[in-house]
Amino acid sequence: MRKYKTPMPERKPEERIRDFQEVATGYTLEDAILEASRCLQCKNKPECVFSCPHNLRIDLAMSEAKRGDFTRFREIEASCIACGKCEQACPRSIRIVDIIMKVSYDNLISKTGKMRAGRGAVQDTEIRNVGQPIVMGTIPGVIAAVGCPNYPKEREELSEILEEFLKRKFIVVTSGCHAMDIGMQEESLYEKYPGKFDAGCIANVGSCVANSHISAAVIKIANIFALKPLRANYTEIADYALNRIGAVGLAWGAYSQKAAAIATGFNRLGVPVVGGPHVSKYCRAYIGKIWKKEKWWTYDVKTKQKVYIEPCPDALLLAAETKEEAMVQLARLCLRPADTYLGRQIKMTHYLELSEKYLGTLPDDWHLYIRTEADLPLKIREDLLKVLEEEHGWKIDWNKKKIIEGPIRGYDAGYNPTIVEEIYEKYTSG
Ligand code: SF4
Ligand code: SF4
Repeated sequence: MRKYKTPMPERKPEERIRDFQEVATGYTLEDAILEASRCLQCKNKPECVFSCPHNLRIDLAMSEAKRGDFTRFREIEASCIACGKCEQACPRSIRIVDIIMKVSYDNLISKTGKMRAGRGAVQDTEIRNVGQPIVMGTIPGVIAAVGCPNYPKEREELSEILEEFLKRKFIVVTSGCHAMDIGMQEESLYEKYPGKFDAGCIANVGSCVANSHISAAVIKIANIFALKPLRANYTEIADYALNRIGAVGLAWGAYSQKAAAIATGFNRLGVPVVGGPHVSKYCRAYIGKIWKKEKWWTYDVKTKQKVYIEPCPDALLLAAETKEEAMVQLARLCLRPADTYLGRQIKMTHYLELSEKYLGTLPDDWHLYIRTEADLPLKIREDLLKVLEEEHGWKIDWNKKKIIEGPIRGYDAGYNPTIVEEIYEKYTSG
């Protein structure tokens, strides 16, 4: 067994002083086998596996690689984020990432994809078409996929999540590395869905700095549709977005500091964000306490009353462990206090369907979002009324199939919510 690391082949000094190309040329397959042969096959606690954020079975891959079989290493590549923690923990300092890269090189280099070029800003004319359906909830939501790559099974999972929402006629908008990842799929979403900012379409606004176009779309909805003034009026626009616009960010994957900053920017605009499991490393989540009923209220500009409301959205930044959980949370976080009954009914339909499809059960908080029987999905309305009566003690008039008692509040079509005192005073004084 080799005691020392297999040296990394390098270009000759006389060559490399003439350009800025990489000095290391990467392992050959023979080098990779030699390096794998240094593995001790640590028995009880292989540090490579325990230090890996995804507990990838590098020990097993090593034993096969010694025999020249790299199948398992190639599978590992799909989930490896090249963080190098396994190398640092390995008692032999084996160059694990270099082995993974070498054996996957041909596959990686031959990958091609079709993507739609970044289109820039969402046009005012598009906002005029979709502003009302978004605010009324008949377009159930806008899912904004923004963030950095380098996460396990990135391309497949991201496309899978977004396609579920595209089929359900949400607006999907994307940028940066997420936008590129989508294009790397065999038959990419760009080939299957149109590029407008509209229901069932996927709009790539451009690079990650083009995220500002996504925030701008939210701001434009408040300005063009609700005539909220733009000048020095960020609070009112964010308050409008939080209470009315069912937009949610998705930053799937390992998450970089830049992506965390983007998520925070969306949060400040009243837009919740669902992150991948690694978002928890930032030790920050904005999750509301739904059991503290006294905390969930708004002013109502129309009635000049304080109104106790259902807890939605109940989080601004949260981590999802799996793509299934992410899908359910995305649908849930599209709920807004000012939803019309039709909008709420459509959003609840997606929320409940996704929960049953991917988690195998109805969510345990769905009853909190019901204000009237009209909020319930039409297809399963009677079943849900029974659950409300039997499990939550609500009173139901079965002749009229109406809820008599139980919800946090009733439905009021003119409800005009704000959580900002100055805005309430601006529209109610005098
Ligand atoms: S920690 Fe290093 S030596 Fe031990 S099994 Fe993993 S790769 Fe092999
Ligand atoms: S480099 Fe890859 S295999 Fe190693 S710890 Fe990081 S994710 Fe795991």
